[in-house]
Amino acid sequence: MADESEKNILTRRGFLGVSSAALAAAGMLGVESAAGQDTKAKSDQVASDPGPTNPPLDASNRDSYIPPITDAGGVQTFKYPFSISHKRQHEGGWSREVTQRELAVSKTLAGVNMRLTAGGVRELHWHTAAEWAFMLYGTARITCIDANGKSFVTDVKDNDLWFFPPGIPHSIQGLGPDGCEFLLVFDDGNFSEYETVLLSDWMAHTPPEVVAKNFGVNQQALANMPKKELFIFQTAVPGPLEEDRRTAAGALGPSPIDFAFRTNQAPPTLRSKNGEVRIIDAKNFPVTTTAAAVVTVKPGCVRELHWHPNADEWQYFYAGKGRMTVFATGGRARTMDFETGDVGYVQKTLPHYVENTGTTDLKFLEMFKTSYYQDLALSEWLSHTPPELVAAHLRLDKATMDAMPKDKPLIMPGA
Ligand code: MN
Ligand code: MN
Repeated sequence: MADESEKNILTRRGFLGVSSAALAAAGMLGVESAAGQDTKAKSDQVASDPGPTNPPLDASNRDSYIPPITDAGGVQTFKYPFSISHKRQHEGGWSREVTQRELAVSKTLAGVNMRLTAGGVRELHWHTAAEWAFMLYGTARITCIDANGKSFVTDVKDNDLWFFPPGIPHSIQGLGPDGCEFLLVFDDGNFSEYETVLLSDWMAHTPPEVVAKNFGVNQQALANMPKKELFIFQTAVPGPLEEDRRTAAGALGPSPIDFAFRTNQAPPTLRSKNGEVRIIDAKNFPVTTTAAAVVTVKPGCVRELHWHPNADEWQYFYAGKGRMTVFATGGRARTMDFETGDVGYVQKTLPHYVENTGTTDLKFLEMFKTSYYQDLALSEWLSHTPPELVAAHLRLDKATMDAMPKDKPLIMPGA
């Protein structure tokens, strides 16, 4: 631990060369020795950072550059920005992924951010993981068939969701005027968008005489089929939805399953002046086996201290700025800063909060590989435990005990 302590001493108070007295005045240095595993710097001699620096990166990660004094010990990194993912570019759109290969801690879920132009198609495909999706921009037409072969075709827009179970074949196409952008969440940290079953790839790797026999046509008719996968390609914007629905349904009729969820047509689970939480799981979206919370936290407010007993949490931040501390047991804790495009991750049962540190609304998704959302808040734990017992632990007076929230507010106001 000696090396780590030394590193923490060297970085803790060097931010922008501010003296520890100034930091203390600004409230950035709290209780001395609050954390168990780190040696706290005592001297201005360690306040400088004279070597090479990256000021923009340091400034946008200030809780790493000068960790809160309550941070301590080795905690596995739980942030990865889509901004530094490889972008796979095609005529018709692009995609990029954050998986366990990018973010080692993210074992249960992986994410893909995708853009499709008007008419751009993510080609007909399926995968072994389930696909949960959230529309970030524009409009799209999605198609699939259910396990009985009945078709589903619908149009989705901003904030709408969809869910395709493993092995259910589907497609996504951007509509006018400017296509779409969306986030996909897969229930496997090792998912790869490079390893899905693509219609074109499959056909290109089946002997042409077999494909011809399969379709009951001659091989000449198949001469123009692509020789390798399309993945994303540009074509014309599709016609009216009703027409696509009718032709896809054929004699079988449409699927009785709704694979899409119109988020803004359902009432929020909680809305207050401090923000909003929408929980979407199998209770209100029966087809899904991935649970979600769509969260808005107002400036200065905090998504209260809580944990999830039943699943790891995969996060996607899509507006504003915030920070999160994960308490990783054994005196270890780490605080990291998040902004638009960042992925965060919290392992099952580890306590955390998310605070809006910016001047605009903080918006993010909490995703879980489970059909049903579960959380427990510190406030509900302490308010449903004998008060004398809680007071004896935390050395709180009765007035403070009485002031604590009793009704699980989810989001608490700024100071
Ligand atoms: Mn897919
Ligand atoms: Mn959480």
